[in-house]
Amino acid sequence: MKTKLSIIGTIFLTFLITASAAKPAIKNNQDVRLYTLDCGSVTVHDIAPFSSTGAYPHESAQFSTPCFLIKDSKGWLLWDLGMGEQYLGRTVEDTKHGVSITAKKSLIQQLKVLGLSPNDIRFVGLSHAHFDHTGNASLFPNAVWLIEEQEYAYANRSPLPSSVDSTTAITLKPYHKILLKGNYDVFGDGKVEILYTPGHTPGHASLEIHLPHTGVVILSGDLYHMRKSYVLKQIPSFNTDPAQTKASMEKVDAILKNSKGRLVIQHDASDIAALPQIPNYLD
Ligand SMILES: [Zn+2]
Repeated sequence: MKTKLSIIGTIFLTFLITASAAKPAIKNNQDVRLYTLDCGSVTVHDIAPFSSTGAYPHESAQFSTPCFLIKDSKGWLLWDLGMGEQYLGRTVEDTKHGVSITAKKSLIQQLKVLGLSPNDIRFVGLSHAHFDHTGNASLFPNAVWLIEEQEYAYANRSPLPSSVDSTTAITLKPYHKILLKGNYDVFGDGKVEILYTPGHTPGHASLEIHLPHTGVVILSGDLYHMRKSYVLKQIPSFNTDPAQTKASMEKVDAILKNSKGRLVIQHDASDIAALPQIPNYLD
């Protein structure tokens, strides 16, 4: 009986070794980590425009504006840049956008906690060009910048779209950029993919990450701004293209469904609070 069991055990073990040898990508996946950094917050004084069908009352909400660091065996990707260092330790009233802006933590200091400096960041990816996603752009002149071609054109439009900071195009101009034409596999290993999800802006993007234990995580960009927008499928009245937004929502929903993935809504403070804080990470 014991011998029979050990034979079965050996066969099973052989099967396991064979199976794992056939799928080396799973082992390599151990290298991928997702760190969440606090890059400020904005208080939106009136969330009614975040629905084009009048689903939201005229009330305020606090939005997180995080940055994310993704560690792959081939380097570091910084995804989105939050609010700039000029908001550190103070609250600034932005009447043009109807928001109050503040930042408690320095991005540089948070990188330091992880033993990193800006020059260690190989890629910087932008979900889109709005001011609350581009704040620290001047800190990364040596990175390779990943931005959808249409979004870069949007940031260079004249007149400038109201939510794009006037310094962004000037800052990005001399940088090494890869202008994307759709989805993009960042490290070429299938683990971190920029998803073209236009509609909020013409070249808006989300980020799909394959983590070894958690599985698939998608960082929303501004495909949704609040958890209730995801549940109710609300499209902001100020999005550049509602039909594109709907198609992008369906694209992300299909990936989430097929992969049993987790969606992180970047501006939803509860979604961000549920993630590990540095130096801890999701893997
Ligand atoms: Zn936006």
